[in-house]
Amino acid sequence: MARYTGATCRQCRREGMKLFLKGDRCYTDKCAFGRRGYAPGQHGQSRKKLSNYGIQLREKQKARRIYGILEGQFRKYYEHAASIKGITGENLLRLLEMRLDNVVFRAGFGGSRAEARQLVTHGHFLVNGKKVDIPSCQVSVNDVITVREKSRASEKFKTFAENPKTLPAWIQANVENYEAKVVAEPARTDIDVPVNETLIVELYSK
Ligand code: SF4
Repeated sequence: MARYTGATCRQCRREGMKLFLKGDRCYTDKCAFGRRGYAPGQHGQSRKKLSNYGIQLREKQKARRIYGILEGQFRKYYEHAASIKGITGENLLRLLEMRLDNVVFRAGFGGSRAEARQLVTHGHFLVNGKKVDIPSCQVSVNDVITVREKSRASEKFKTFAENPKTLPAWIQANVENYEAKVVAEPARTDIDVPVNETLIVELYSK
């Protein structure tokens, strides 16, 4: 279960946009992209015209970074998306959205996907009453995610309950009751990530 362990804000700077990987900090003036909105490294400030391949590559890297997934696993998501019925790019985003760590984040139990991932890994959640600590676990429609009884007293979960998030249409959650339910598969219009999935499909299908 590998994950990127380098500097987080560097990823936003590399992609030339805020990816909101750090939760609340991203909305403050401590945001590194706000202060240094250019690519990291010695040549970060020199302008480069990207080739078609470069544009497609950047789009894929951006999606990987938003969802916190390494290359090998991301390619597997693409292969799975290509093997199922429907539009490959939309299938890909749907598979990424239905990861347990993303659902936990969307439901409001985590300021960022990275935080949600850590909470899942630490065993704070049950899926349909059973403990699941694998962030990449795919949830299904009608699955119910709850915070474990033992974890509810923690300050972190109290903070989430006091600051409920705006929910996407495909999740019903009641953070005060420590519970979320997946009521539908997310449609493309429900997925607000700034990614052009068509470019990712073009890159992988070469
Ligand atoms: Fe990106 Fe957030 Fe870091 Fe700003 S604070 S650079 S949005 S991760």
